[in-house]
Amino acid sequence: MTDLTKLSAAALADKLSSREVSSVEATRAHLDRIAAVDADVHAFLHVNGHALDVAADIDRRRADGEDLGPLAGVPLAIKDVLVTTDMPSTSGSKILEGYMSPYDATVVARSRAAGLVPLGKTNMDEFAMGSSTEHSAYGPTRNPWDLSRIPGGSGGGSAAAVAAFQAPLALGSDTGGSIRQPAHVTGTVGIKPTYGGVSRYGAIALASSLDQVGPVTRTVLDAGLLHDVIGGHDPHDSTSLAHEWPSFAAAAREGATGEVLKGLKVGVIRELPDSGFQAGVSESFRAALAAMEAQGAEIVEISAPHFEYGVAAYYLILPAEASSNLAKFDSVRFGLRVDVPGGTVEDVMAATREAGFGDEVKRRIILGTYALSAGYYDAYYGSAQKVRTLIQRDFADAFSQVDVVATPSAPTTAFKLGEKIDDPLQMYLNDVTTIPANLAGVPGISIPSGLAAEDGLPVGIQFLAPAHEDARLYRVGAALESLLVDSWGGPLLDRAPALGANGGAR
Ligand code: GLN
Repeated sequence: MTDLTKLSAAALADKLSSREVSSVEATRAHLDRIAAVDADVHAFLHVNGHALDVAADIDRRRADGEDLGPLAGVPLAIKDVLVTTDMPSTSGSKILEGYMSPYDATVVARSRAAGLVPLGKTNMDEFAMGSSTEHSAYGPTRNPWDLSRIPGGSGGGSAAAVAAFQAPLALGSDTGGSIRQPAHVTGTVGIKPTYGGVSRYGAIALASSLDQVGPVTRTVLDAGLLHDVIGGHDPHDSTSLAHEWPSFAAAAREGATGEVLKGLKVGVIRELPDSGFQAGVSESFRAALAAMEAQGAEIVEISAPHFEYGVAAYYLILPAEASSNLAKFDSVRFGLRVDVPGGTVEDVMAATREAGFGDEVKRRIILGTYALSAGYYDAYYGSAQKVRTLIQRDFADAFSQVDVVATPSAPTTAFKLGEKIDDPLQMYLNDVTTIPANLAGVPGISIPSGLAAEDGLPVGIQFLAPAHEDARLYRVGAALESLLVDSWGGPLLDRAPALGANGGAR
């Protein structure tokens, strides 16, 4: 592996702006790394054949003295849920195989305008439904820490690409944890911004009231740099907030001094049972809290009694919204069409959806249409929306007492491929700590807290803040990150055993 792939995006950006390194060199190093390891990892569904041309253009513009943004020339991996004009966009589904979008997602357009170099599109569970990437129609991604294990989902491709040093930065989307849970199991950093903080325009919709786009990186500062590029109001997205956001990179830099920990009130949820959590996950969580406490943070027990109903409410609201969003894949407007000779238009639609959607997508469409049907709407969808309100109130209550809420980012470390794929309920329960943030619209960050003693696999700690307070997460995340990285004597990913030149298994 060349050193260029090991650098953080911030460090690489410095070398680019001082012209010590060209974007072509940086991009080539990452393409070489992809060529070396992606047969094993399978983080990418598509590698950008024009990446070096884009990089050369950035180099030319820099040489011409053009004032480029702080990340200009840095490579970027893009989750395949985001539409792109120059690469296919499939959302992990056969129904969109080869689909070319006539426009770029806003976050992609902003990344291009900032001079980021798109490396390719990353693998994901089909239509972002899942926690393992095993629901991708194109085969699973593997965890760079151990190739027999899942990289999380739905954005396992973006997390694995960053963890395997195939890209310094990636874009993800998080509807119920798809940025934060992959970060947890791969030892990376992931942020779900405040709902409306980052444009959803051009993000293939899963559940519109829950979806958020956000950064996937190896450091908190890198996430802040990317968030600064993609965030902010977008007139193309009717739910985009007209809010003046501070610089998240500046917040991360400020946080790294550790000052923020003095007197910081960190809430831990009384009702979150220890029982559902792997011992090493709980231990790592408690150790991280103790490290913060030693620096002057105050750990406060809070009550969030409705948190535990989040999974149940989410798996009604999400399928309901998804069943509606996915109705547009009707064989006429987008992607696949399966012809039925002599058949009606309904026959063609049915055959297309039968062939084009995988089992998990069909399961959720059935669940969602049932939950929305006339006789059951109040009992299911209506009740779930009430639970959603109660969870929002739990958060309001919590944030009247504490600055941030902390939880483990997920109950277990990376499980084995195949372990939960036939048990949807087990797969859904994985999302217990991530879902409440989506239901309430508040921001969440997952950063590595260490390795679980029993299996040596990464664990993440999640911080949640009130809506609009994303910068607080960058400050707190960067503070804990710098404490922990010091205590480890270097980044956690340096200790990943599977990241040799061949990306091979442990
Ligand atoms: N695991 C969750 C689900 O399957 C997360 C999805 C997401 O955030 N896109 O719905």
